[in-house]
This record gives sequence, C-alpha cells and structure tokens, in this order.
Amino acid sequence: MGLLRRNTTADLIAGSVEPVLVDKFGRVATDLRISLTDRCSLRCTYCMPAEGLQWLTKTERLDDDEIVRLAGVFVDHGVRSIRLTGGEPLVHPTLAAVITSLKRLAPAPEVSLTTNGITLDRQAHVLAEAGLDRINVSLDTLNREHFAALTRRDRLDDVLRGIDAAAASRLHPLKINSVLVRDGNLGEAAELLEWALRRGFELRFIEHMPLDADHTWSRAEMVRAEEILELLGEQFTFRALPREGAAASAPAEEFEVVDGPGASEWPNRPARFGVIASVTRPFCRDCDRLRLTADGQLRTCLFAHDETDLRGPLRDGATDVELGDLIASAVAGKQAGHGIDAAGFTQPLRTMSAIGG
Ligand code: SAM
Repeated sequence: MGLLRRNTTADLIAGSVEPVLVDKFGRVATDLRISLTDRCSLRCTYCMPAEGLQWLTKTERLDDDEIVRLAGVFVDHGVRSIRLTGGEPLVHPTLAAVITSLKRLAPAPEVSLTTNGITLDRQAHVLAEAGLDRINVSLDTLNREHFAALTRRDRLDDVLRGIDAAAASRLHPLKINSVLVRDGNLGEAAELLEWALRRGFELRFIEHMPLDADHTWSRAEMVRAEEILELLGEQFTFRALPREGAAASAPAEEFEVVDGPGASEWPNRPARFGVIASVTRPFCRDCDRLRLTADGQLRTCLFAHDETDLRGPLRDGATDVELGDLIASAVAGKQAGHGIDAAGFTQPLRTMSAIGG
C-alpha cells in the first residue's frame, strides 16, 4: 500500500512541497467533476422538472479559459482525474477544445465524460481525437415508450446511436449508468445487464438519491442496491470483487458475472457490473471527489449545503496561489458524510443537474 508523503518543515523552507488537498479526516481529494453547463437535452423525472430549471446565463457560467485555469490549480494540488458532466456536457459547443486544453495540463489528468449520449454519434470520434480517455453513458431503459416516459423525450434511438459510436471509437471501457425507479424500469434490470454484457459494456446501477428538483425521492420507494442484486440473482450468478487499489475509492461495488445470459460473450473482456449504493451503502469514508459547478462554485460533497465561490475571486484577479488556498481550505472542511440517514437531513437546494452528477 502506498504511503502518503507528508510535507515537512524542511520541504516548506526548500519550497519543494507537493500540495495535496486533504481534509480533517485524512481523505485526499484527487478527482474533480466539472459541470460545463446546467442545461440538459432530457428531462429525467428523477432529476429535472418537465419545464426545466432557471438556467444560468452566459455571464454566470465559467467560460472555457476560466474552467481550464481552475482545473490547472486543482491539478497543481494533486487532482489526477477530471470528469466533465452537467447538465449535459455534449450541449457545450466547445467541449472538444476544453478536453484538449485539460489534457495539456501537467501532469495530464485522466479526462472522462458523463453524458446522456444525445449527439454522441456525431461527437464521439472528435472527442476521442481531442484526448478524451473514457466515457459513461446514462441509459435507464431499452424500451422506447419507457424511455420517453422516464426522460420526457422520445430520444432512445439517438442515445443508442451515440453508444454505438462511442464503442466504435477508442473510448473503452464504456460504462453505462442506470437509475432504477420502482414504477418505471425496475423490471428491466436483468435485460439491461444482458444487453450490456453482450456488447462488452460495464453497467452500473445507481441508487436514486434525494437530489431531484421535484422532491419525489422517498426512502421507502427508492430501489435499494440489495433489491437490485436479488433481482439480478434470479438470472445471473455473480460474485463481489474485492475493493482494493483504485476500486477502494471508486463509488461502485463491482461484481464479476460468472454465469448468465451474455456472461461469456467476450472471453477476453471481464463480464462485470457495478452498483453505486450511495444511499444504503455510502462510501463517504473513501470519498476522493470534488465538484465544480458551471457557475464556479466548489462543492466538497454532493449533499453539502455550503459552497466555496471560486468564480468571484478568479474574476477579481486572484492568483493561482490564492485560488489554491481557497480550494485547500474548502477541502479541509469537507463534511464526514452525506448525512442522508441523519435525523433532520435536508436535501441541498441545488439539484443533481445543477451540481454536476
Ligand atoms: N446529462 C449527463 C448524463 O445524463 O449522464 C450528465 C449529468 S447527469 C446529472 C449524471 C448522472 O446522474 C446520470 O447518470 C443520471 O442518471 C444521474 N442522476 C440524476 N439525478 C439523479 C438522482 N436523483 N439520483 C441518482 N442519480 C441521478
């Protein structure tokens, strides 16, 4: 196991300190999610209201230079992976240029994308050429009517075309994110897994979190990881993979599919799926994530009620050192856990789409 290098007074005097973002519980932040926009091309019922939200203005949003400058400060402080998200990052017109600029940072971070896949058929190749390393596409159902009901848009075919294009580019391993909803797509868990296994994709089921604009989340109604595993167990045999190495701080619990439809389709590719049980099996103790919203607010937890404004100081002329200090002190104060189970838990004002999932 690697030991964290501690900066000594001698290092400080010699100026050879490698700044790291560490909180009071000893967690080191190395992963940054950047929301490029709060706008989205879908209106998933568990995320956004039908009429959308009040969108940020162009002035309120960080521009590309600001995004890359801030990302550089995070990288200088030990961030090694950056995930671009939103809203829907594919609606950001200069996405490829942002990726290229991020990959020029030193050391170059791993850059990945979380997307709903709409227009990905036209963009996958360009994004891969720009330096994108990996991609996650969100897809909750393979049934056109269910898709239209869940997302309030009849765009399943566009998403499937986007997934095909990503698979044809070098964006591997391709991960698919699915949120299961009791009165929506719960019965499709096994079908989704078989579909993903046959194509060599890694499916990850995400527990529904209390971050929806319509406040429809209910602890009693949400589909729990336990229930998903039971359902899948009716058709598949699988075993939990150990949480070690990079997987130790990953949000997904990983499972190897030993037997079941599609399990042996790709003899040279692991047949796997994951469950992100943010609500019932929280991984806050190992959380290494930070989030930068499209309007330049740093959030150290999805469920935090406070944010650190980086846009204001950036536009007022703060130096990289000053921005780094702001980031470091925000991280130092990161809360122990999301607190969904705590008495008096209240949902943050920002929804998932406005934070950057
Ligand atoms: N538009 C992109 C997409 O669809 O992947 C990126 C943003 S979206 C907010 C990121 C992920 O968050 C998606 O996989 C979506 O299903 C998930 N999500 C949205 N609201 C959620 C909620 N309340 N609970 C759990 N996951 C949610």
